[in-house]
Amino acid sequence: MKPFTYIGRPARVLFGAGTLQQLSAEVDRLGARKAIVLSTPEQRASAEMVAALLGARAAGVFDRAVMHVPIETAREARAYAAKLGADCAVAIGGGSTVGLGKAIALESPLPIVAIPTTYAGSEMTSVYGITEAGLKKTGRDDRVLPRTVLYDPELTLGLPVAMSITSGMNAIAHAAEGLYSATSNPIIELMAEEGIRALGQALPRVRAQPRDIEVRGDALYGAWLCGTVLASVDMALHHKLCHTLGGSFNLPHAEVHTIVLPHALAYNAAAAPEAMRKIARALEGKSAPRAVYDLARDNGAAVALKDIGMKAQDLDQACDIAMSNQYPNPRPLERDAIRALLQDAFEGARPA
Ligand code: NAD
Repeated sequence: MKPFTYIGRPARVLFGAGTLQQLSAEVDRLGARKAIVLSTPEQRASAEMVAALLGARAAGVFDRAVMHVPIETAREARAYAAKLGADCAVAIGGGSTVGLGKAIALESPLPIVAIPTTYAGSEMTSVYGITEAGLKKTGRDDRVLPRTVLYDPELTLGLPVAMSITSGMNAIAHAAEGLYSATSNPIIELMAEEGIRALGQALPRVRAQPRDIEVRGDALYGAWLCGTVLASVDMALHHKLCHTLGGSFNLPHAEVHTIVLPHALAYNAAAAPEAMRKIARALEGKSAPRAVYDLARDNGAAVALKDIGMKAQDLDQACDIAMSNQYPNPRPLERDAIRALLQDAFEGARPA
């Protein structure tokens, strides 16, 4: 076995239907008294429900979380948290809302309780992102790692099917890249394969029975594992490409992940055969890129960048940005091959 480094990130995870009811006890456990509750405008009702559960522990609700954490929103939320004298942030929602909690914690050291309602995985990571003047800067900081995570599948019953599928594919992408990461290790590989397996089985069932709590629990379990992979090892080509496409061309996060993943895997296939074998095994397929592509397509997700707003004339620039810095990836970054990958993703071709 080759040598490795394993980093376990300290989070307290409570998992199961009805776990939300333990929120007040968890806030008490952190020694906090005044929570600012965060959400998107669309999830205001969930935030109010959480505030009601917290009773006197809820200092106020801030419902303006949006994708990619604009610096202006982060400043507003920080000012509101300070005005309330908040000593804890409770974030209910997806990666955007958890991301806002992280932006607050980056400046004032308050603990975050995350209540994820998508499969994006941000709740497990110490990665934050803030967008200023159109540029998203990301970084790692242990202060932003949520201290407590409540995974309650009941809160995902209303996640629309289309979003459930792409969010689940987003999670699978973390695990897939974790399997060939330069910093991977045997523990993370176990979690990655199991996470892909759980989501691969759950997503078609979520599509068929979106309000089945067992199925939603299985999907959320997979998402937790995949989020842990994202938190623990470095990502590679796929995540860098999605960051470029999402950030520079303003494409929706989970959809971009869904579309690019089969092509990023095809690019790396020959250089990472063991990872491919595990991904294919987890999805009960013969080829990892095709199994991932089929999972998305067969469950109604868009498989072409041209269908989610990418313009053909921007592909060269996307390739330039993707090539502008080198990072560890199983196969070195080759301009012509990356450009071909982007073309395939643009057209939505099934990997050969
Ligand atoms: P999101 O948080 O933007 O949510 C998308 C929409 O779905 C929002 O309107 C939200 O209110 C709604 N929604 C969420 N859960 C719902 C539910 N259960 N029922 C109904 N509606 C619901 O989407 P996301 O994909 O979870 O997060 C994307 C963002 O998170 C991106 O900015 C991405 O960069 C970031 N992210 C960060 C990390 C990290 O480690 N820092 C990891 C993954 C994603």
